[in-house]
Amino acid sequence: MASIQAPKGTYDVLPPEAERRSILESHVHRIFGGAGYRRIETPAFEATELFARGVGSATDIVQKEMYSFDDGGGRSMTLRPEGTAPICRAYIEHGMHKLPLPVKFWYLGSFFRAEQPQKGRYRQFWQVGAEVIGAGGPETDAEIILLLAELLDAMGVKGTRLRLASLGNPETRIEYRDELTAYLRAHASELSVEVRARIDLNPMRAFDASDRGTQAVMANAPKLLDRLAPDDAEHFDQVKTLLDAAGIRYELDPTLVRGLDYYTRTLFEFTSDALGAQSGVGGGGRYDRLIEQLGGQPTPGIGFAAGIERILLAGAEQPIAPDPVDLFVIVGDRENRRAGVAGFELAREARQAGLAAQLELGARSMKGALKHADRINARYVAIVNDEQSATLKDMDTGEQQDLEAIRVIATILRGSRLA
Ligand code: ATP
Ligand code: MG
Repeated sequence: MASIQAPKGTYDVLPPEAERRSILESHVHRIFGGAGYRRIETPAFEATELFARGVGSATDIVQKEMYSFDDGGGRSMTLRPEGTAPICRAYIEHGMHKLPLPVKFWYLGSFFRAEQPQKGRYRQFWQVGAEVIGAGGPETDAEIILLLAELLDAMGVKGTRLRLASLGNPETRIEYRDELTAYLRAHASELSVEVRARIDLNPMRAFDASDRGTQAVMANAPKLLDRLAPDDAEHFDQVKTLLDAAGIRYELDPTLVRGLDYYTRTLFEFTSDALGAQSGVGGGGRYDRLIEQLGGQPTPGIGFAAGIERILLAGAEQPIAPDPVDLFVIVGDRENRRAGVAGFELAREARQAGLAAQLELGARSMKGALKHADRINARYVAIVNDEQSATLKDMDTGEQQDLEAIRVIATILRGSRLA
């Protein structure tokens, strides 16, 4: 029969790779947990309406990247393409405004987008992110950026750059959008067909275009950063001052555009030279209108999301020490059922005594089993001869001794570094 493969754009996380992810997760625990952020997990799918409202119906994500399906009862559901809208939904749904504010979350999980798969771009991918809800001050913006920088640093992500901008408030943006749209119309003949077709839908996206003609037009386009309202400009100045104080380097990028409609004020993205075409490692921004947009009280918020595959691709190779094996148990005569029970029990009791114990499960010959014990770096091997007696071999010294099976664990505990 033909074999079945994982769907296009998905992949298996095999053990060595899974271990690198555990290392990443432990850094997240340390860095974000240490700063008072706590883990949150939301469902893998949500009402489609949540993303239409919470990400924005004009965005690429909602327009063409969502996996939506009927839940069987006529309701449209969507595999979550991002984490912010679900977390804001949870914040509102659980009345978390009653908690001491701000509430600070981190999350780590898989997300889904119908994209053309390539290196660093998948249909099921993983993100780590954080959100701070209920704090609007610039120190929150700077803290979020700082913590993400620390995580990337801990993972040894090479060649990072931080791009920074401010989107101001939605009212300023509407005025700016009109100005930009008029400018694009005046230069329509120089734009790519795709950009021209989307002038009205999403003019900001023109800054992202990769064709020369559009890029030349955009180099002289009006910039939102030059149009900020005084309080937004003041907020942005303070964010920059705090980042300077923390020694975080950034580049102002007035063309920075990100996929959410409800971003306000600070916007940022880390890229890495080590990544090639999919250079975005992670980014985020402030979303002071989002909670209201989802039916809650007006509440400021800010967060980021970073792609785990991209962190690992651009990150340092971390030497992964295999799990230590204190004891490897081999049953000498597999035909002897009582010896089989004794070997099984020995491994079980060894684990209860706090040893990392493995039982030979591979039906290997004695020679093969000893070779395997050596390969996995077992500290001791116990060969269970029958229900009473065993041979214990110290794999470091090569010494071996015959002893009663019930004495094996005590002997190891006395003799090993675990004693
Ligand atoms: P891109 O421009 O690469 O499509 P994006 O702006 O869509 O990124 P966000 O929605 O901000 O990305 O998601 C945050 C991070 O999640 C990205 O910086 C990237 O590291 C990662 N990411 C986004 N989409 C994918 C994907 N399809 N596969 C793998 N990682 C992804
Ligand atoms: Mg994208």
